Amino acid sequence: MSDLPLRVNLVGKQPYGAPQDLVPVSLNVNENTHPIPDEVVADIVASLATAVRSVNRYPDREFDELRAALAGYLGHGLTPAQLWAANGSNEVLQQILQAFGGPGRSLLSFTPTYSMYPLLASGTDTAWIDVPRPSDYALTPELVVAALAEHQPDIVILCGPNNPTGTPLDREVILAAYDAFDGILIVDEAYQEFDTEHESAVTLLPGRHRLLVSRTMSKAFAFAGVRLGYLAADPAVIDALRLVRLPYHLSALTQAAATAALRHADAMLRAVADIRMQRDRLGAALTELGYTVHPSGANFLLVGGFADPAATFAALRAEGILIRNLSIDGHLRITAGTAAETDAVIAAIAALGAGGARSA
Ligand SMILES: *Cc1c(COP(=O)(O)O)cnc(C)c1O
Repeated sequence: MSDLPLRVNLVGKQPYGAPQDLVPVSLNVNENTHPIPDEVVADIVASLATAVRSVNRYPDREFDELRAALAGYLGHGLTPAQLWAANGSNEVLQQILQAFGGPGRSLLSFTPTYSMYPLLASGTDTAWIDVPRPSDYALTPELVVAALAEHQPDIVILCGPNNPTGTPLDREVILAAYDAFDGILIVDEAYQEFDTEHESAVTLLPGRHRLLVSRTMSKAFAFAGVRLGYLAADPAVIDALRLVRLPYHLSALTQAAATAALRHADAMLRAVADIRMQRDRLGAALTELGYTVHPSGANFLLVGGFADPAATFAALRAEGILIRNLSIDGHLRITAGTAAETDAVIAAIAALGAGGARSA
C-alpha cells in the first residue's frame, strides 16, 4: 500500500478488524447470540420471496414502508419523515459525517468509545478530537460542557450505553451537551434496548433540530447480518442526508427483510431479558473471582484485573472462546451470550487462576 498515492489522512491507518474466527463460543462483537425465532424466519423468507420477483427494478429509493415500520417501532409519536436508514448504523454515521463534517470540521467524542468513530472521521477528512473519560468512564454535564467549550467541535457523538465500557448515558448529559454548542449532537443508541433504566433520547427530539439519535438492528434485534441501522431526527436532517446517500442504497432484499422482522419486534426482542440476566450472572461470577466489572447497560461487560489481557485472550481463544481485547490496560470485553456460552466463559476464566494467568 505504501507505493500507492493514498490520501494523506489515511496513511498509516489500520482498517476495522475484529477477528472473525469460526469458534464454538463467539462473544467478541456484541451480537445477539440467540437464534431468530422460527415464526419470524418463515415470514422473512416469504417476504424475500416476494421481493426477489421485483429485483429487475431498482428498489424504493425512499424505503417508505420500512421508515413507517421503524417509526412505529420507536413510537413516541415519531413520523416516517423523521426516520432514515442505511446499511448498518456505521453507514448512517458515515452519511452524517459526509453531510456535516469534512475538511475544516471536527468530530469529538469521549474515549474509550466505539473504535469506528475515528475511522469514519478519517474516511471523511473530518478532524477527530478525543477527550478521555474519567476513571469510572461516566460522563457528567460539567465534563461534557467543559470539553465542548474548549474544543468547539462541529459534531459530537455520545455513545449510550457506551461501547466498550457499557457505561449508561444520563439524560442530563445529553441536554447539557446540546445546549453547550450549536453543532450536530449524535446519540449512538446501538445498545438502547438492553438498558431498562434509561429512556431513549428520541423523547428529547421535539424542539431540538440538531439532535440525531442513531439506532441499529444489529444488536438486541439479532439482525447483524442484514445490515440495517437507522436514525431518528428532524426531517431537515433527513433531507441533508439525501444529499450524500448513494441512489437506492438500501437493497429491496434488505428493505423486505427488515420490514418483516419489525412486524415481529416482540418475538425478536424476546431474548433481551435473558441476555441481561446472563450479563449480570457473568458479572457476579467474575467479581467473585476477583475481577473488576464495570457497570453496564448493554449486552457486554468491560472487565478489569487481567495481569496480561493478550495472554488471557489467547488462552480462551485456544479453548474456542473468542472475546475482545481492545488494548485497554488490564481489561477485556466480553459479550453476554446464551446460558451455555456464559457457563463456558466463566469456567474457562476460573480455570486460569488469579489475574487470568494460567497457574503453574
Ligand atoms: C455495534 C455498534 C454499532 C452498530 O453498527 P451496525 O453498523 O449498525 O452493525 C454502532 N455503534 C456502536 C457503538 C456499536 O457498538
